[in-house]
Amino acid sequence: MAPDVGWLPVSFANVYFIGRPGNKWILLDAGLPGWATEIFLAAEARFGGGSRPEAIVLTHGHLDHAGSALALANRWDVPIYVHHLEVPFLTGKSSYPPADPTVGGATAFLSRFLPTLRRDLGGRLRELHQYKVPGAPGWQWIATPGHSPGHICLFRESDRILLTGDALVSVNMDSWSGLFSAKRTLAGPPAPFTTDWDAARTSLKALANLRPNVVGCGHGLPISDAKLADRLKKFAERFRGPRRGRYVSQPARANENGVVDLPPAPFDPVPFATAAALFCVGFALGAGHLNNHDRK
Ligand SMILES: [Zn+2]
Ligand SMILES: [Zn+2]
Repeated sequence: MAPDVGWLPVSFANVYFIGRPGNKWILLDAGLPGWATEIFLAAEARFGGGSRPEAIVLTHGHLDHAGSALALANRWDVPIYVHHLEVPFLTGKSSYPPADPTVGGATAFLSRFLPTLRRDLGGRLRELHQYKVPGAPGWQWIATPGHSPGHICLFRESDRILLTGDALVSVNMDSWSGLFSAKRTLAGPPAPFTTDWDAARTSLKALANLRPNVVGCGHGLPISDAKLADRLKKFAERFRGPRRGRYVSQPARANENGVVDLPPAPFDPVPFATAAALFCVGFALGAGHLNNHDRK
């Protein structure tokens, strides 16, 4: 994305290498569990054998961003930095609010199959302090809650590069065609895992106000074009989020101890077994068929 910003897609999530080869660097996000070797080898190829980052920084602690963080931190012997409101979800103190499969769309459907696990990154975990990103001078972190309580984005003013995690993504994860084709677009946070929509909208507006030149998201391809800042501004102004869903009229509330209040669980009209069968049928028939179904 820039001489000192590298982008690596691992499975369906992205990780970023920030720093110039030969200098200090950090890893932003760490993909799903099981991708540590892939990320480690990519880092060696970029920064040289035996090189290790100053730190791993996580935009938030969801499994697709923090999954391989501990394995990598142990391998490199480095700390993992997160916003303090993500800490309880990464020390085993609290689980994230449950995903909302009733919010509609492709990821919501798939969210029925994802386990809600408590995870503990143990002694590797550190809290970020005001706006500075350890090991990445020139960068600042910006609190962008909504998708998760302590979600952050990274921004560098000098060339207006913005790395957004899940606060803004560049693939429509609510549509099957978007998910399978990875067509580049501006989209709000992955809906079933977003637990405060007012905050998510405010965060999108804050990101748009940065008027970035380049955006690298947690999912989807990087975006860089002359009209990006204006498009993002329009997108953020018009963004409404889903019409219905567990967290639409009432957010999940969390503090430094984790979740303190949840809206009641909605009725899920698709029982697990049916969902599993549909999922298999969907694969058998191909994504195109489901896509038509999705669009109606
Ligand atoms: Zn997430
Ligand atoms: Zn994600």
